[in-house]
Amino acid sequence: MSRSPIWHPFTQHALSPPPLNIVRGEGAWLETREGARLLDMISSWWVITHGHRHPRIVQAIKDQADRLDQVIFAGCTHEPAEELARRLLARVGAPLAHVFYSDSGSTAVEVALKMALGYWRNRGETRTKILALEHSYHGDTVGTMSAGARGLFNAAYEPLLFDVIRIPFPQEGHENATLDAIRAHPDAAALLVEPLVLGAGGMLVYAPQVLADMRDVCRKSGALFIADEVMTGFGRTGSFLACEQAGIAPDILCLAKGITGGSLPLAATLCIPEIFDAHYSSDRSKTFFHSSSYTANPIACAAAVANLDVWDNEPVIERIGALTAWHREMLEPFRAEPRFARVRQCGTIAALDLRVSDEGYLAGVGPALMAQFIDRGFLIRPLGNTIYLMPPYGIGKDELAAAYDAISQVTA
Ligand SMILES: *Cc1c(COP(=O)(O)O)cnc(C)c1O
Repeated sequence: MSRSPIWHPFTQHALSPPPLNIVRGEGAWLETREGARLLDMISSWWVITHGHRHPRIVQAIKDQADRLDQVIFAGCTHEPAEELARRLLARVGAPLAHVFYSDSGSTAVEVALKMALGYWRNRGETRTKILALEHSYHGDTVGTMSAGARGLFNAAYEPLLFDVIRIPFPQEGHENATLDAIRAHPDAAALLVEPLVLGAGGMLVYAPQVLADMRDVCRKSGALFIADEVMTGFGRTGSFLACEQAGIAPDILCLAKGITGGSLPLAATLCIPEIFDAHYSSDRSKTFFHSSSYTANPIACAAAVANLDVWDNEPVIERIGALTAWHREMLEPFRAEPRFARVRQCGTIAALDLRVSDEGYLAGVGPALMAQFIDRGFLIRPLGNTIYLMPPYGIGKDELAAAYDAISQVTA
């Protein structure tokens, strides 16, 4: 408890212990200034994919820093951004055909929303409604908070938020309510969804078939389908993109967290040709008016290219497959444990809820659990009473087993 000169994110400084001072990272491990070692079971807030300091990515950052650090991206381009765009598009495939760079998941989603609204306006159609799923999270800027679920985290800013149409979460057995709610708005500009897993909303999972069905409803109405794969992209759910499991392609795709393997901030919003074309005009008023200072930072782009090299040259999918299988096996005993509920998994993400009397975030269950995990040497940061593991793909089976052992010993 201290009056920290640094104001940390999502931290109540009056109640939190001093932050861990981390001096080193390697693979799935972090090391504190005091020499304690912690297993990074949350991939440093969902960004580290292969492991900390992957050699290929570190080398690419060093090499690029020696050549070009930063350059304005309006009117200029550079090879790291060009190569990254080519390779991202080759990986995700048609119909996605254009890449817009920004620097965080929130900005990737803001760009997507602006692309969608710009598309309809430039076509001369008045479609402005945004549909978004209940419990969703899309970032912490005013625009992305508007699209995300409302509650404690944004109550103070409510007067600034714009309205979106809230679609019920596709709970198993109630998927039709979700699809009907989307169908009820055939004039929507876009539907924004987190494919397969709603992350910050509590690691809520739903079936690929529902994702395919939601996409289908949008295809019929013409509403743009925006996939926020900021968390699910780059292998998290078992495939490179979560959308692949539903056999679908979105009209707009948001990528961020894992794009550089977690080494540097970067984001990309990909779109279909029709959206680019709607902004392609001799009329300057149809320009896509968006930028941030560090758009397509060359060092970050080089790190992202190196990340794709890792995907192309190392058995990443096999590692993800192994981790997925270990989760399945190690989660099994918890299904019979009355202390836990809603045991669930999607690829490399495993989650379960600890039964507690007061499940509210404000009750401080999350921080109390986190402190117990840190004492045992694990960086695990529950969402309220939802404990989840989302480790880097290179984690070993014994390390994962130790984390499950720690979960079996926590007390509310
Ligand atoms: C984390 C996250 C974001 C926001 O990303 P930032 O880089 O933190 O701005 C957006 N959407 C989803 C699904 C996320 O998990």
